[in-house]
Amino acid sequence: MAKTFKSGAFLRQCFDLHRQEIQCQKLAPPAAVLVLCKVCEIWSRISLPQEALGDDATQKFIAECVSLHPAKLRLQRMAIEAQELGFFCEVCRVGNRLIGLEFESTLDD
Ligand SMILES: [Zn+2]
Ligand SMILES: [Zn+2]
Repeated sequence: MAKTFKSGAFLRQCFDLHRQEIQCQKLAPPAAVLVLCKVCEIWSRISLPQEALGDDATQKFIAECVSLHPAKLRLQRMAIEAQELGFFCEVCRVGNRLIGLEFESTLDD
């Protein structure tokens, strides 16, 4: 049975302990990014607020980086309380800050 937690606590812990093992996997349309911690095997879903989609940089990030080369995204900064994440795309050489995020992690028993 998988359990789902509506919290960024697990992602926070992985980020603190082994951030290089957190890998973006794919886009969950319309606006959520699925990431996997390869060490803990915890999947997290990071949902963007509707308002964020009006932003050009965020649209490009979703349409290109997350859709085309998610594995090249590095998680650079994290402020769970502020609902904020910073990504850096190694292909486009561009950083992107996402705010107003909702976090949800799924753990297998
Ligand atoms: Zn982990
Ligand atoms: Zn990119």
